[in-house]
Amino acid sequence: MTKIDKDVLVDLFNNNLLYEEIATVFNVYPQSVGKMARKLGLKRSYIERSRVYKSLPPSANWKNRKVICDICKKEFITKVPTAKYCAICRKEVKKLDYDIYLETKKIRTKLRQLVEENYEEALKLVNEMLILEGQKFTTFVTKGIIENY
Ligand SMILES: [Zn+2]
Repeated sequence: MTKIDKDVLVDLFNNNLLYEEIATVFNVYPQSVGKMARKLGLKRSYIERSRVYKSLPPSANWKNRKVICDICKKEFITKVPTAKYCAICRKEVKKLDYDIYLETKKIRTKLRQLVEENYEEALKLVNEMLILEGQKFTTFVTKGIIENY
């Protein structure tokens, strides 16, 4: 069913081609390449697989700057040009499965909206989440939106 030849993928991967570049070989989306690579147990750090990183100047030239964490909304200082999360939140994100991470991102966006529109309703939802998904998940999802969960 898939258009991706596994042996060719492994070969291209080992030759350090970006997912975007491998995708053009098979005429598929880069995400499909990433998915297949994960299935095959091929692992690459974000730095190695990202075109964004490759286009950046060498890390020696990176300058300190202040950034607002996308999750907890606290300010942090970083040299990494693409940093979106503070050290604490990044650690938590790393622990999550990628699919769950995407899911929490969606939930967080909706929750942030709901807090603005109807705080009571948002609290109700969070309490339900606490029962269904547990403390850890709920704390992560509500971080920077509703504290103390
Ligand atoms: Zn944070």
